[in-house]
Amino acid sequence: MSTLAATSTPVYDLARVRGDFPILAREVHGRPLTYLDNAASTQKPRAVAAAIVDCYEGWYANVERGVHTLSQLATGRRERARETVRRFLNAPAAEEIVFTRGTTESINLVAEAWGRGTAANIGPGDEVLITGLEHHSNLVPWQRLCEERGALLRVAPLDDRGEVLLDEFERLLSPRTRVAAFAHVSNALGTVNPVREMAGLAHRAGAAVVVDGAQAVPHMMVDVQALGCDFYAFSGHKVYGPSGIGVLWGRKELLDAMPPWQSGGGMVHSVSFERTTYAPPPHRFEAGTPFIEGAVGLAAAIDYLTALGLPAVAAWEGELLALATERLLEIPGLRLVGTARRKAAVLSFTMEGIHPHDLGTILDGEGVAIRAGHHCAQPVMRRFGVPATARASFGLYNTPEEVEALAAALLKARELFG
Ligand code: PMP
Repeated sequence: MSTLAATSTPVYDLARVRGDFPILAREVHGRPLTYLDNAASTQKPRAVAAAIVDCYEGWYANVERGVHTLSQLATGRRERARETVRRFLNAPAAEEIVFTRGTTESINLVAEAWGRGTAANIGPGDEVLITGLEHHSNLVPWQRLCEERGALLRVAPLDDRGEVLLDEFERLLSPRTRVAAFAHVSNALGTVNPVREMAGLAHRAGAAVVVDGAQAVPHMMVDVQALGCDFYAFSGHKVYGPSGIGVLWGRKELLDAMPPWQSGGGMVHSVSFERTTYAPPPHRFEAGTPFIEGAVGLAAAIDYLTALGLPAVAAWEGELLALATERLLEIPGLRLVGTARRKAAVLSFTMEGIHPHDLGTILDGEGVAIRAGHHCAQPVMRRFGVPATARASFGLYNTPEEVEALAAALLKARELFG
């Protein structure tokens, strides 16, 4: 057995933190829940539920269009949530924060409004550069845009560790590259991309830079100004907030120049049968009644996370990752998929002779929740020659005991399959 154990405790009180997440106390199949599917969705602290209850019980009304007290209160709370997100990303201005349904919608918004809606931005013979580790939601929207515009989708390949080959990324950039779109952190491999460096290279080629931050914001401090990107997308449900709410940050001059994508109430300045003029960003991109309670729930989640401190969370998750990596490598027939030098707390793996779905089912029987499948990243699976992987992903509330529970359940699966 290994000598490495989680060498310390987090600087925050782990027992108290776990107490903030009531679901973690439940059982599954008569076993204590070991929740290791955080890259798919994180669980929610009481503070998030309380913020949503407070909205419904204290001040709920539709936003933007009312003069009555509740409507003004609701409008103010939602705009305060926007300011919380601005601070979280260190964005220059709250008007640059667009609320969406999530990362997928944020990226589609850019592909639609920046891409399809602005003919000058992308045309025949132009190129979009992505990488080999993208989630389908940062691949398919660009592929569709390229197909419609006669543009070319280029893909920077990965090395055997699951790192983007930076010299290839640089080589694939050209004056025809209109957008470079890539993940900050890979959901399938855990790889942390050197976003600042990649953004610098892309900008030198004259491309706009879109970053999929879905897997980054729960694990590390994100400063969009320091990263030097043009757009940054993330989802509430992966950062301890509600599902169905997300964020697109975009640089003001780019958002200002973009036409609307969805149309209706809330995104207009004036409407007549002859002509409609549009509201400035962010409202231009927020047609219809928004997810008001989602926005305040997200702000509560961000407040919770920043009160713990992202550096403390990152340090703790780093310890869990090191321990889990060591424990898993002790298991016969286990192959890690994704061994980048800089990784977030995501472990993808296969086990000889056991399909990942079977592994997932056996582990569920032990109370251990992991994900099995292609993780909406089929090209990544193809790159590593596997149809699917099992994936354990850690959050701020996980414990060394849960890592041991994972390892024990995997050993049990090994025994079952001989
Ligand atoms: N990008 C990455 C890297 C992801 O992990 C995910 C969610 N698995 C998404 C995009 C899509 O996020 P959502 O489903 O919240 O829109």
